[in-house]
Amino acid sequence: MARNNKIVVIGGGLAGLSAAIHLAICGQQVTLFEKEMYPHHKVCGEYLSKEVLPYLKFLGVDLGSSGPVEIDKLFYSTPSGKEIHTRLPLGGIGISRYTLDEILYKKAVSLGIEVKQEEVKEIEFDEGIHKIKTSHSYTEAGIVLGAYGKRDALDRKLHRPFIQKKTGWLAIKAHYQMNGYPRDTVSLHNFKGGYCGLSMTETGAINVCYLATYSSFKDHKDPEVFKEKVLRKNRHLAQFFSKATSLFEKDLTIAQISFDRKALIEDHILMLGDSAALIHPLCGNGMAMAIHSAKLASEAVMEYLVTPGGSRENLEHRYEAEWNRSFKSRINTGRMLQKVLLNPALAEISQNTVQLFPGLLPHIIKRTHGIPVE
Ligand SMILES: Cc1cc2nc3c(=O)[nH]c(=O)nc-3n(C[C@H](O)[C@H](O)[C@H](O)COP(=O)(O)OP(=O)(O)OC[C@H]3O[C@@H](n4cnc5c(N)ncnc54)[C@H](O)[C@@H]3O)c2cc1C
Repeated sequence: MARNNKIVVIGGGLAGLSAAIHLAICGQQVTLFEKEMYPHHKVCGEYLSKEVLPYLKFLGVDLGSSGPVEIDKLFYSTPSGKEIHTRLPLGGIGISRYTLDEILYKKAVSLGIEVKQEEVKEIEFDEGIHKIKTSHSYTEAGIVLGAYGKRDALDRKLHRPFIQKKTGWLAIKAHYQMNGYPRDTVSLHNFKGGYCGLSMTETGAINVCYLATYSSFKDHKDPEVFKEKVLRKNRHLAQFFSKATSLFEKDLTIAQISFDRKALIEDHILMLGDSAALIHPLCGNGMAMAIHSAKLASEAVMEYLVTPGGSRENLEHRYEAEWNRSFKSRINTGRMLQKVLLNPALAEISQNTVQLFPGLLPHIIKRTHGIPVE
């Protein structure tokens, strides 16, 4: 029986769109399912590490014309307001997900990728074929890339262990208008129970995105009250909020954010981006990892397709090996950093240590980032 080489991508965020574009450039026919309409805002810090810019160029994706902001400085403050300023070794750009995802989507459409704006409800693997169901369609494919983000009903269908556990995290984001915010700086301000990132986007708006534990949020429940009672205890955040005006009618919120380990392959689906693993957001590296994982998966798929008699087992092994080589160590560094920063005593000690040894911080940042992906 002839091998089914049809490729389906589930999820049209950064990982899914990048993989679909890569495979289309290599001459493959790809169908991508995305449940939301483009463009839309997403909860994200919107700082994109420059490491993936060469790869985006390879994909034919030009971000320059959207006017992203160049960012090469980090301003970090502890809950008590102590400051650290450093240069970011590689730097990044500030661009909203509203714009970034739409640019990739338009590129995908221009390459003839079939984008179905449908939610995948079920997926089953049987005798070498993936059977994909939405409310409107049924599709069969030989290869499926799972790029549906942090958490979805599909994870429950696939019996992924992380979905069974309640997690302790939620995240909130909005864009603000404020005059005088430094364009070249991403700020990370610790508060009791979380941290808040600030950086400018291509529109000149400041993206404000914070991650907080439920235990710190549950007494206040309302984001506005939480902002008043908890975030503003950090004097840098108090200063920002006293001068800034929200551009959103309502903050965007996501809950049940899990940093647990996930399997990279589930029922022969290659998992990409956040569906494979979520690095702690304070590393500012999840978007770059999502895009980079698309490259690793696409290369493994292409090798499988062009190798006569190429086996699925080899495809899966190659993807897992490349993913671990590229990301495992930075995910572990991210876990360690998050533990330190969320412990107020440790955060103060590490702040003092970094002030004594200023070369330490760029070194730690490098450990959570990769080198440019050519
Ligand atoms: C608070 C916070 C701040 C962050 N800040 C930063 C930062 O500053 N810099 C950085 O690099 N990273 C940051 N990240 C991480 C970054 O947002 C993610 O790593 C990145 O969005 C992952 O991209 P993705 O393509 O894997 O997933 P997503 O961008 O989430 O895309 C998944 C897509 O799949 C679609 N989908 C889901 N289920 C289905 C389904 N069943 N059928 C069809 N479609 C489906 C969704 O609608 C979505 O469009 C942050 C994360 C958090 C939580």
